[in-house]
Amino acid sequence: MTAKRIDGKAFAADVRARVATHVTRLKDVHGLTPGLAVVLIGEDPASEVYVRNKGIQTREAGMNSFEHKLPADVSEEQVFAVIDQLNADPAVHGILCQFPVPPHLSEERIVAKILPEKDVDGLHILNAGRLVSGQKAMAPCTPLGCLMLLRDQLGSLSGKNAVVIGRSNLVGKPMANLLLRDSATVTIAHSRTVDIAAVCRQADIVVAAVGRPDMVTADWIKPGATVIDVGINRIPAPERGEGATRLVGDVDYNSVSTVAGAITPVPGGVGPMTIACLLANTLTACCRSHGLPEPDGLTA
Ligand code: NAP
Repeated sequence: MTAKRIDGKAFAADVRARVATHVTRLKDVHGLTPGLAVVLIGEDPASEVYVRNKGIQTREAGMNSFEHKLPADVSEEQVFAVIDQLNADPAVHGILCQFPVPPHLSEERIVAKILPEKDVDGLHILNAGRLVSGQKAMAPCTPLGCLMLLRDQLGSLSGKNAVVIGRSNLVGKPMANLLLRDSATVTIAHSRTVDIAAVCRQADIVVAAVGRPDMVTADWIKPGATVIDVGINRIPAPERGEGATRLVGDVDYNSVSTVAGAITPVPGGVGPMTIACLLANTLTACCRSHGLPEPDGLTA
């Protein structure tokens, strides 16, 4: 069997287009423009690229993008003052702080300062709690993106056996809770799981969010299963020249695609969904803050 390659890049473009259509309607009918504020602390080059891309895609979707660059030695009080100002600003519907932050600052305390309704990264403890308890939450962007790809691929997830490998607050746990919400039967595997290959072989859906290159191999996968690879790992690629590197996921794509029914590649799978879902969450936050219906198909 050769698995279907799930094209996350194309799907993410479609999500962004749907967001943009909804934004146009919000402007035309209600005179509202969703706004996303990104706080960047310090001068980490990778973070600067991410923030620039977020700004470009936000504007392309017709939303307002606000960027707040703070110096690496900024105090916690100064960061909190900026977040307070954004929390109070009616033009700002979503706030995110780009991580990692310099070591003297606490990511946990920064997230806690953001109003849960504006926490479009879905990392606030109240959003985590609402997700677990089945209330209306803001879901973290990467797991939300995986959920959208799975729903598109499989239709209903009800009754499917799903294994999530990884139990981080950013990916593994919210992913498991989103699958549970869609009535999948969910197992969370992690570094202490005994015979993880046998656990995965029971699954109709495997979501790998570990950070170990090519860990999941064909013998872990039930024939026809859907495999979502969240991992992003940079490994040496001497065939591309001295010092060159390439990106691989947590799933050995070549071997697994001979067994799976469908699989996301790395790059071009889950990765592009993350910013698309950030835009979707900002739109959702704007609709909720004005008591308007949420955009169809763009929320959990
Ligand atoms: P994390 O916080 O480091 O969590 C990794 C999880 O993997 C932990 O729960 C850990 O288990 C588990 N694990 C480690 N070794 C294992 C093993 N040998 N067998 C089974 N489980 C093992 O990482 P994360 O933030 O969730 O990210 C996971 C991966 O996704 C990374 O490659 C990251 O770069 C990528 N990622 C991609 C996106 C995207 O946009 N595509 C977004 C976020 C993250 P324990 O809890 O037992 O230690």
